Amino acid sequence: MIKIENLHKYFGKLEVLKGIDYEIQEKQVVCVIGPSGSGKSTFLRCINMLEQVTDGAIYVENVKINDPKTDINAIRAEVGMVFQQFNLFPHMTVLDNVTMAPMQIRNLKRPEAEALGHELLKKVGLDSKAYNYPEQLSGGQQQRVAIARALAMKPKAILFDEPTSALDPEMVKEVLDVMKNLAVEGMTMIVVTHEMGFAREVGDRVVFMDGGYIVEEGTPQELFGNPQNERTKAFLGKVL
Ligand code: ADP
Ligand code: MG
Repeated sequence: MIKIENLHKYFGKLEVLKGIDYEIQEKQVVCVIGPSGSGKSTFLRCINMLEQVTDGAIYVENVKINDPKTDINAIRAEVGMVFQQFNLFPHMTVLDNVTMAPMQIRNLKRPEAEALGHELLKKVGLDSKAYNYPEQLSGGQQQRVAIARALAMKPKAILFDEPTSALDPEMVKEVLDVMKNLAVEGMTMIVVTHEMGFAREVGDRVVFMDGGYIVEEGTPQELFGNPQNERTKAFLGKVL
């Protein structure tokens, strides 16, 4: 579903991604782990065209997305993103946050969009908050709304960038549970996370990034149980 070939990304002279090759199959959950500054966010942002790729190619369902002829907005509609800081629109109700993009980009009429919005808010356990504003919700609730908002575009895949890192500890589980349900339903997901329990339990593959490279990848059993690379072993030694 997503294929990355020899991806390089520079910020000025700083090379942040140094040649990444990876393929994500439909319905796979790929968890990306690694130290701060290793390029995890940049990797996700390139896949969603939030950053311009310097060299290499990214394909989403065989369409090369870093091609001048490709419509960036069409790609963004297919590949959703959930951020650490939720990024909900503060002046809009929860329901309007969820219905805005499908109305503007998918041309849904308001009644259809609102029916979809309520359905998705139910799915994340928050339909009772449909007419509240983001600031009236806890961090965990806001992040669940952000997930509903991503789902409203009916994306082919969703990218999560440390979705629980900004949350108080007691709210982490409610967000991970929603993500786990999506995984069970077959959503294709790439999840940058520090939640090793989630990666172990829900991930089909785990990718370890360090210094702008994918150093090692494998099943959770392989990567956590029998890491091959010294850098992977050192990182896991610190976080497990
Ligand atoms: P991670 O998500 O693994 O912590 P990032 O992808 O955020 O890593 O960052 C990788 C490197 O790229 C870091 O050295 C960071 O400072 C640098 N970087 C990220 N975004 C930018 C930017 N917009 N401009 C310049 N440097 C950046
Ligand atoms: Mg990051």
